Amino acid sequence: MVYCGGVAHRNQRLEHKSDVTGAAVTLDMAGTIELARMLQPDLKRIAVVAGTGLVDRYMLSLFQDVFKDYEGKLELIDLAGLPLDNLLERVSRLPASTVILYLALQRDGAGRIFSSSATMKMVSQKARVPLFNFIDTALGYGSVGGRMTQIYAMSRKAAEIALRVLSGESIASIEPTVIRDNPAMFDWRELKRWGIDENALPSGSIIRFREASLWDVYRWWVIGTFSFICLQTLLISLLVNNLIKRKRAEQEASRMRGELVHVARVSTVGQIGHNLAHEINQPLAAIRMNAEAARHMLGGVAPDLAQVREALDDIVADNKRAEGVVQRIRSLVKRTTPVHDQVDLNRIAAETIHMIEADAGSKGVTVNLDLANDLPPVHGDQVQLEQVALNLIVNAVEAVSQNQIPSRIVTVKTNREGEESVILCVSDTGAGVDQITADRLFEPFFTTKPQGMGLGLSISRAIAEAHGGSLSFASSLPRGATFCLRLPAVQPETRNTQQEG
Ligand code: ADP
Repeated sequence: MVYCGGVAHRNQRLEHKSDVTGAAVTLDMAGTIELARMLQPDLKRIAVVAGTGLVDRYMLSLFQDVFKDYEGKLELIDLAGLPLDNLLERVSRLPASTVILYLALQRDGAGRIFSSSATMKMVSQKARVPLFNFIDTALGYGSVGGRMTQIYAMSRKAAEIALRVLSGESIASIEPTVIRDNPAMFDWRELKRWGIDENALPSGSIIRFREASLWDVYRWWVIGTFSFICLQTLLISLLVNNLIKRKRAEQEASRMRGELVHVARVSTVGQIGHNLAHEINQPLAAIRMNAEAARHMLGGVAPDLAQVREALDDIVADNKRAEGVVQRIRSLVKRTTPVHDQVDLNRIAAETIHMIEADAGSKGVTVNLDLANDLPPVHGDQVQLEQVALNLIVNAVEAVSQNQIPSRIVTVKTNREGEESVILCVSDTGAGVDQITADRLFEPFFTTKPQGMGLGLSISRAIAEAHGGSLSFASSLPRGATFCLRLPAVQPETRNTQQEG
């Protein structure tokens, strides 16, 4: 026979018969009362609940023994043996500074049979003071806690012994076991209900029925999600920052490019500058001569007014000429934002040559103009495209300047290439370009000239490409160099009709 459930005294050793063994427990009512006193320092009364069943009365007798030590220290409110209704009514009126010690209630004073834990729950619900108990299987039914008799541990032990016996071990060799430990156990919900601080519990206390907060349950989800959001925010802001920086750098780069284009243009104008001055001086001199002649005529006895009018007309015409030159220089040197419009390459070629004519003439260079008829317009910025033409023509004039006078020839030619593109080529009869130079022509700052900047061709190519076109080099035959600017033609259906050919 294997038993489960005897109550042993604290130091009692159980009798071991050769055919009976098992597991028992110890009770600790005094320890439970001490716990109640500790958690409620102003405790004055203890209300004891017990029924009229066998176990109920046995527990009551044990309690009466224990309580002898508390006579004079605690007042006893005896609620044992009452009918349940009566009991519930009594617990609802208990005064403060009281605790209920729940012993056992399997049968009430009216003889009705109950489950002890179910009645404990009813008592606890009605009670206005905390309830303590000392059986671990009843924890969770309304008791704050107590020094627990370990029914679960005892049952497990008895089951182990039974299994050993069943597997053939002799009972005589298996000593009965007493689970002597009565740990302090508490119901978390009741601690909260009565406002008992967890920190006030004795160390090593076991707390059951802890209700996990949302934080407890979802802590890792929350931390994980939060970290993810933080990380994502960080990544996004890094990315946005990066984007802003890149955009800034691109803006900055385009501004620098603009500055460079401008500097190059000013420098090219500088190269031909003294001849431009000559171009302005010519009309100014003519104006002065005409003005002096008119004054002289008016000083005469019978001035010829028709001749005076002619002189004045010449003055106006020369003034317009000078103004035109100044205007062109200004438009080239001016810092402008690119304007995109339909422009005519023939006009660009003619105006550029007009600008360089005096310079070329002074060097004994002949500039031939060979313009195609009905050249379709191109889409672009007039000033920038003029800059390309000017760079090419200035280079060509320089290249032929070393030749004998009759062969100092530069040809500027425009043409259409099918429907798709138009082309402006500047050819010269200079020394040409050797292979090593040819490979590096379009590199920024590449120059073979002592005063050169080496920017003209690289900027011209950049302008050509920004217009969706190209700038290429080829050797001329029998000698010299040809540079061609190729640009997409504006298609007939999108052509601006106001644009003159
Ligand atoms: P720069 O004229 O200031 O040197 P460019 O970029 O316009 O700068 O020209 C770069 C180089 O290309 C020149 O130094 C020269 O060696 C060569 N080059 C350009 N055009 C011609 C040409 N028509 N004939 C021979 N060489 C040329």
